[in-house]
Amino acid sequence: MIYKARTIPRELEVYQLLNSRKNLLDNERKHLYALQKGYEGELLFDNVTSSVTKAECLILNDLLLPHNKNTFQIDSLIIVPETIYIVEVKNFEGDYFFEKDRLYTSIPPHSEITNPLIQLNRSESLFRQLLQQLGSNMTIQSYVVFVNPEFTLYQAPIIKQIVYPGQINKFLKSISPISLRLDNNHYLLADKLKSLHNPNAPFYFPPTYQYDELQKGIPCSYCDSLEFTTKGSYCYCSVCSKKETMEKRILRIVQHFAMLFPEMKITTNAIFDWGSGKLAKRVIRRVLQQHLNTKGVHQWSYYEF
Ligand SMILES: [Zn+2]
Repeated sequence: MIYKARTIPRELEVYQLLNSRKNLLDNERKHLYALQKGYEGELLFDNVTSSVTKAECLILNDLLLPHNKNTFQIDSLIIVPETIYIVEVKNFEGDYFFEKDRLYTSIPPHSEITNPLIQLNRSESLFRQLLQQLGSNMTIQSYVVFVNPEFTLYQAPIIKQIVYPGQINKFLKSISPISLRLDNNHYLLADKLKSLHNPNAPFYFPPTYQYDELQKGIPCSYCDSLEFTTKGSYCYCSVCSKKETMEKRILRIVQHFAMLFPEMKITTNAIFDWGSGKLAKRVIRRVLQQHLNTKGVHQWSYYEF
């Protein structure tokens, strides 16, 4: 069973928000693409795990765990009665080949790709240390799972730790025990790991941006357009014609603002400016007062989630 669900990673969300409000640099665009592709692969894997693993297991998706000032990420952690499985999901598409422990793309110039087994072994080592600290001596096994059916690996080594697209069902069935049962200790461990998860861990590749360079406005949630008309308490998108309440649109940009600029205070004036002055301050103030906690008084008041 899914014990910790996967949510869109904060890093991906920030990149997506920036992409709609500024021109990303070339390497930032590539990073956004990689993040998106990775997330899609993880969702694909989740789909299979939820349908195959019916037996006794606890699945914790997308963990960011601290260890000695480091943070390491685990795409999926599967706890079964006797073993903990660490799964690194890869959504590589196209043709690749292996040569002397190195992974390359088949298309010239045969660029080298970081061997996912290296990342996996690092995560396994850090997780083992963390587990020891938590006083557990369960066996750990780790796997790289390639989920994309369009992925082909030539000269593929027979490495026990690699699961290819056609083997995923078989792999999941093989790790789900039939006879053994989870006990309270498994749940305690899962709860502990869940509590250690730090969704606000620093990004591996932080983007650079400033408030002034971002386009202001209140985007439509369906098509991202910034153009709309209002009638009563509703906004009507000028491009896709979809209707949304002003309240919903305002709340969304407040969340975006808080995510992109955690150090800035949420005030009526700040959100009015962030929304490009398209909605009246009194409407913004009412939404902030209703949905957020008010801090400070009078002209110094600001809001927090
Ligand atoms: Zn729209």
